[in-house]
Amino acid sequence: MKVTFPHMSPVIVYKKLFELLGHEVIMPPTPTQKTIDLGVKNSPEFACFPLKVIMGSYIEAIEKGAEVIVTSGGDGPCRAGYYGELHQRILKSLGYNVEIIVFDALFPRFGDFMKGVFKIKGRNSVAKVIKTLKTVYRLAYAVDGLEKRIEKLRAYEVTNGDCNRAWDEILDLFDKVSSIDDVKDVEEKAGKILDRIPHIKVQEQNKIRVGIVGEIYVVLESSINMEIEKILGSLGVETERSQYLSEWIEFNMIPKAFRDKKIDNVMEKGKKFIEIQIGGHAQETVGFIKDFKDRGFDGIIHLMPFGCLPELVTQSIVPEMTKKFDMPVLTIPIDEQTGKANNLTRIEAFIDLLRSKKNMTTIKSDKVAITA
Ligand code: SF4
Repeated sequence: MKVTFPHMSPVIVYKKLFELLGHEVIMPPTPTQKTIDLGVKNSPEFACFPLKVIMGSYIEAIEKGAEVIVTSGGDGPCRAGYYGELHQRILKSLGYNVEIIVFDALFPRFGDFMKGVFKIKGRNSVAKVIKTLKTVYRLAYAVDGLEKRIEKLRAYEVTNGDCNRAWDEILDLFDKVSSIDDVKDVEEKAGKILDRIPHIKVQEQNKIRVGIVGEIYVVLESSINMEIEKILGSLGVETERSQYLSEWIEFNMIPKAFRDKKIDNVMEKGKKFIEIQIGGHAQETVGFIKDFKDRGFDGIIHLMPFGCLPELVTQSIVPEMTKKFDMPVLTIPIDEQTGKANNLTRIEAFIDLLRSKKNMTTIKSDKVAITA
């Protein structure tokens, strides 16, 4: 099968999954303004922004030869649950004859999930599928772990761009893995690559840490969130996201009794502000705002796709949380009009505010020099 998927970082994980199952992978191009324009043109005006970008991505991948699209779905009152159906109908109306396989959470619709598994299984044995899933999960875990390290290190690199270059090199190495042992091997090499990056030492009390929260697609896909982590890193700011693919897999695919409870605990914190599941990542977003506060972060950047109702509800709760926890939050709406230049000014002003709140003096240059 010629398989494609939505372009949502880290794409190497999905690529490996289908490659190891013996499918021909049609890589969706990294979303650009052209992708967005294509998606906007072929989507309902009031659809949420990720649906539009993904629409554009699908068309680009189909034009490259994709025959099957594999994607995740969604539960509850969020529109993600309709994405697969809607995309399928739009693509059909445009004359594209492709199949969309949607994976919802493993529970409660175990049967539907397994139907999807059998479709992508091909001629592989069940043992091979299980081995592949384990390898890919381990890969997601390794990629996320290294990315978390880079999100901190980038703030202190001596030469701008060192971390980004190292990351590209690491992804090239991961591109060659085919087993868990290979993944562990690359993980070790990657650790050494990161160890070699020259960086300045900054005292703990002088570090600025920002949590990035919001809807999963705009948080994970750097090409449409203005590469927010790179921007913050270049301003000397450590970051951590609310969303990581390995944690999403763990929360959605592993029964509660056996999984790491990080996201469950965050959701509990979120329930104090949004009692019931209103869809998307609203409960998680408010839970993470509290969690980042509890862990001593200095501020929050909240990414909100245009047309996203769950994040709109979150936005209405943010002022109360800011006041209650003395936690500055900058909400950035993301849509086809999002301009990097004006948002950069807002982000810089926000970081200045965080620094002054910490009684720090900054000298702006390429890199922030910390003088107090
Ligand atoms: S979480 Fe928001 S942006 Fe994502 S699918 Fe649901 S409504 Fe759309």
